[in-house]
Amino acid sequence: MATAVKPRVGMYENVKNQFEKAAELMGLDESVKKILSITNNEIVVHFPVKMDNGTVEVFTGYRVQHNNALGPYKGGLRYHPTVDIDAARALATWMTWKTSLAGLPYGGGKGGIQIDPKQYSLSELERITRRFTYALGDNIGPEHDIPAPDVNTNAQMMAWIADTYMSTKSPSERSKNQHVVTGKPVGSGGLEGRDRATGFGVVVTLESWAKVKGVTLEGKKYIVQGFGNVGYWAAHFMHKNGAILVGVQDATGTIYNPEGIDPESLFRYQTENATITGYAGSQDYASDAFFGIECDVIIPAALGNQITDENASSIKAQVIAEGANGPVDTDGEIILLERGIDMIPDILCNSGGVIGSYFEWLQNRNGEIWSMDDVVVKLRKKLEDAFNKVVTTSVQYQTDWRTAAYIQALTRIEMAYKQRGIFP
Ligand code: GLU
Repeated sequence: MATAVKPRVGMYENVKNQFEKAAELMGLDESVKKILSITNNEIVVHFPVKMDNGTVEVFTGYRVQHNNALGPYKGGLRYHPTVDIDAARALATWMTWKTSLAGLPYGGGKGGIQIDPKQYSLSELERITRRFTYALGDNIGPEHDIPAPDVNTNAQMMAWIADTYMSTKSPSERSKNQHVVTGKPVGSGGLEGRDRATGFGVVVTLESWAKVKGVTLEGKKYIVQGFGNVGYWAAHFMHKNGAILVGVQDATGTIYNPEGIDPESLFRYQTENATITGYAGSQDYASDAFFGIECDVIIPAALGNQITDENASSIKAQVIAEGANGPVDTDGEIILLERGIDMIPDILCNSGGVIGSYFEWLQNRNGEIWSMDDVVVKLRKKLEDAFNKVVTTSVQYQTDWRTAAYIQALTRIEMAYKQRGIFP
């Protein structure tokens, strides 16, 4: 007899389960719950782009705007084959909680294009990005919806978005629109330190975790899934804390070295070879056994739904620092909570990125230039404040850190709705 295969929880279902749990525990106002249970706007665009060989391809792009009770929609654009309406809804919703928890004057949005950017040349990617921006038109805007980098998008692409958006405005309006997007190159309105803000933030939250546990990160063994912007910078700052990187997994393979991998030299190797496999001093490792590697800390910094009921029981680490959005699915989470493994939830752990974006937005809006020192100090303060609030709330409600983070985030949004009421 065939065994029934349990359907996997989709990303949007995952975020809804997390939301329901917190809403129930805190007694969230029913009307506010109804509003937050669905996204405000969902924009889907199909747009043609001329390829290098002269043919035309039509792409599908998404921008989901979940909620803007606290300010303009804010969140990244992702270029990945897994981008669809379900993923965009989930990721937009997580942004609403993330910006609220961080105390920012923003709501949540997310979008992207369902492509594998490796299949396209740089000039094709430029045309895809510019045409996507044009297709979105005034669905984005510096005081309305502000995109940023996410998986497989970078500062260069943000510069193309800013340039395209600004070019559609009249000459006297152009310079007022630079903050339509954050994560730009430093020479084009970008913020010093925005590149490392997410990875730095992940490590700040791990330092706070260590403080709560009465330990230090020095000598702790850790593994990282994803060695892009978040994974690399997290490893860089873990290394500064004296922690030891023993395993790395990304789309190109899985490597392991119980004696330690130097993040800087792995980064150079990856830049030269476009893969992490074959890195000297490491051995290839079975990809499905990755999360079971003997270590103290796991930093998932790639895609969602990576830790599930298939691998959560094999985990040896004491803490999972969610550099990615939604890396632990509903079933995985139940197992981890039962096993007493700490999770620093994504909406707290990786919020350094959007906090950095907020600083960049302020910098552009106010015509200022912030120094790296300013950024680092202010970023650390915001993250430590948010972390402490989550811990206090978890004690108050006798609940896990994710649910506590949600309660914090939802309380702020609930307050805004209560004060303002519902139009008309
Ligand atoms: N994509 C990042 C995130 O998921 C950053 C978003 C932003 O800076 O707006 O938080």
